[in-house]
Amino acid sequence: MNAQIIAIGSELLLGQIVDTNSSYIARALADNGIELVQTTSVGDDLQRMNEVIRSAIDQVQVVITTGGLGPTEDDLTREAVAEVTGRPLVFQSHLMEQIEAIFKRRGFRMAENNRRQAYIPEGAIPIENPKGTAPGFIVEGSDWVILSIPGVPSEMKYLMEHTVIPYLRRRFNLKSRVIRYRVLRVCGLGESAIGLQIKDLMKESRNPSVGTLASPGDIKIRITAKADTLEEASIMIERMEQEIRSRLGILIYGVDDETLHGNVVKELEHLGLTLSVVETFTAGLISQKLGSPEGRSVAQGLVLLSESSLRRFLDLEDGTFSGIMADPQAVSDRLAERGSEEFETDLVLGMFGKIVEEQGREEYRVETCYSLKTPSGMERESHPLGGEIPTLRERASIIALDMLRKSLLKKGRRA
Ligand code: ATP
Repeated sequence: MNAQIIAIGSELLLGQIVDTNSSYIARALADNGIELVQTTSVGDDLQRMNEVIRSAIDQVQVVITTGGLGPTEDDLTREAVAEVTGRPLVFQSHLMEQIEAIFKRRGFRMAENNRRQAYIPEGAIPIENPKGTAPGFIVEGSDWVILSIPGVPSEMKYLMEHTVIPYLRRRFNLKSRVIRYRVLRVCGLGESAIGLQIKDLMKESRNPSVGTLASPGDIKIRITAKADTLEEASIMIERMEQEIRSRLGILIYGVDDETLHGNVVKELEHLGLTLSVVETFTAGLISQKLGSPEGRSVAQGLVLLSESSLRRFLDLEDGTFSGIMADPQAVSDRLAERGSEEFETDLVLGMFGKIVEEQGREEYRVETCYSLKTPSGMERESHPLGGEIPTLRERASIIALDMLRKSLLKKGRRA
């Protein structure tokens, strides 16, 4: 069975409010196995509302409208549904009594135009609204049903839960379905590169389905399974997870709410290793992410922001300093070396970033270098990055943390 949501109100089209009702309704439909095929926003214009509702009942079985049930002249949902379905609006005295009772309870005098709200299309099933003054209604056609509920989010949610969903389950005899999600978290490759590796799964798998969501340097792969029981859904997710893991392997750093930095700290503690960080371009972001008041593994984070603080810490003669600055990887190596002289930890991460070019308004190309001093030697990575500074810092911090994670993973395997 498929559905369309129609969000009504000119404020939506003017960008004055965000259509959170549609996303709430969409999730409720998905949770009940009803396929949403379209959401539409339409202003308070009777002709356009008629067009949208008419085309919806031509195409889907379930149409849910939200908004436009208030008492004023521009609340036109009642009129539009009445016109499209050819059922005149009729006055319902029991709805009027409920509206009056709400006003009385709240200590307000009812205005004359609230009478408008007691009209619903002929033969419609009224939806009583104990949370507000706008009742909703259900109009049943031969192969479609229109459910109209108010736009005020608290009223909409109450009626979805108490009336709309129970009605749809009864009417369409919906079996109770369980929906389970699992998120695999990936870093180290862009969304399109990840997309290429699991393209077929994203395109062809319907249940469980696979989708991605990206933020700078970090990608979430969401597996969603619908089944009759929790166990069945978990088995479906597990199989898909194994398939994705076999393709992406070490790129997956965690699941669900796990974070990259959280897993790095966990692994350090598990291996009984301590770490210091000396960072420049990331301005403290790596230390901030790794730092926790109760953590013992991350001993210190040093942030060197100016060239003079960098020169002092590296402890180099002027000539040697300018020489080394021409080679960013040598600077990050030196940061890690000096860090290990100063701080007695098992590991020291040096991070250095050098702006090599201004690319346009507030955009830069930066050579970022990472050196990890470990008891068995120095590990190195370098990545040229481009973009705005806050995003570059975030990406560089993720690269550094991911380098740490992979190195710890190797150490864990050897141990
Ligand atoms: P009422 O008579 O209680 O006002 P109504 O059905 O007429 O109900 P609207 O007048 O369309 O509802 O909207 C009332 C308020 O609800 C809006 O001002 C807005 O704040 C909120 N609202 C309406 N539609 C949405 C939506 N799609 N998403 C989020 N909020 C909404």
